[in-house]
Amino acid sequence: MMEIEKLLPENILKLKPYVAGKTIAEVKKEYGLERISKLASNENRLGCSSNVKGAVLEAIKEIQDYPDPIAEKLRKAIADRNGVKEAEVILAAGSESIISILCRTFFKNGENAVTADATFVGFFVQAGVRGIELKKIPVTDDYRFDVDRILNAIDDQTKVVYLANPNNPTGTYLKADEYRYLVDLIPDNVLLIADEAYYEYAAEVDDYLPAIDHRKENVIILRTFSKAYGLAGFRIGYAIADERLITEMLKTKLTFEPTAPAQAAALAAYNDQDFLKQSIELVKRGRDRLYEFFDEHGVKYRESISNSVMMVLDSEKEAIDFTQKMLEQGVILRRINAFGLPNCVRITIGTENEMNHFEESFIKIVKQ
Ligand SMILES: *Cc1c(COP(=O)(O)O)cnc(C)c1O
Repeated sequence: MMEIEKLLPENILKLKPYVAGKTIAEVKKEYGLERISKLASNENRLGCSSNVKGAVLEAIKEIQDYPDPIAEKLRKAIADRNGVKEAEVILAAGSESIISILCRTFFKNGENAVTADATFVGFFVQAGVRGIELKKIPVTDDYRFDVDRILNAIDDQTKVVYLANPNNPTGTYLKADEYRYLVDLIPDNVLLIADEAYYEYAAEVDDYLPAIDHRKENVIILRTFSKAYGLAGFRIGYAIADERLITEMLKTKLTFEPTAPAQAAALAAYNDQDFLKQSIELVKRGRDRLYEFFDEHGVKYRESISNSVMMVLDSEKEAIDFTQKMLEQGVILRRINAFGLPNCVRITIGTENEMNHFEESFIKIVKQ
């Protein structure tokens, strides 16, 4: 008889299958509800640019053909807007795919990565798939990266330092001087992955420094179309890095990712800066309103520069209870135990209507 434990390497057996959040349709059915607000996955609750649909329909006309493996048109648009060479840009099926590419490309056996304990679970998973040892440095009491401890954790076997800036799930970020200090002290032969999935929300913040404004040849910048551009369902993201690194990454990328419709959708979205602005404004207003609501109700939270805000509860049990009760009201939230913070709950900023729903449900629950 086949023995699964004998069939598989240790690092794969150790991985836990991904548990997806509930879909809107599931929650409607399970609780017999009509009104659902999905504030669980940091998607853009406004949707995406209205130009996307036409671009995708156009792309479908050639769907029998393989896509352009380097996504030339989109790559050029990204290179131009960021003031880099086209050869410094790679597109793939989401930043998760780029993280997978990085784990496949650069690690020799026995090499490790340094990151934080409370950060994007996608990196933990892809490192686990490749059997890479992770040194997870605890975040500070105010949920920020501990820059000195991160630097001190780098050893002769460290290949990568992974930091999401702004961070998910905390919404915190490295201040400009902290980022400069960190990047200047990381050895040349260690790669810094600067995951900027929330770049568009953060770009205007005074003391936030996007990696592109302080470039180093060992820094790989990750961006995505899944968040502010509202294209999570298409799976498309990109990296900007030194041309020599991109050349190596192109060797391990799945040849024909991202799909042709995804490339077309992303280009249309990228060219609609009005929709992007609207999305960013919605999140700013929604965050301020949520802080005010939480202050009024004595709820602890962490201020954020991304499109989510993290509530800090007293225990894991409270976080479980709160999330469940909100779900029964039709508000889907995300517990972030898998991200290393069992007593916290992450709330994606939604539309005005969705934030009303959140507040009304919160008040109902507190009164119960
Ligand atoms: C959401 C998120 C991503 C997402 O990636 P895609 O694969 O592009 O959808 C990457 N990094 C962080 C920190 C995120 O929060």
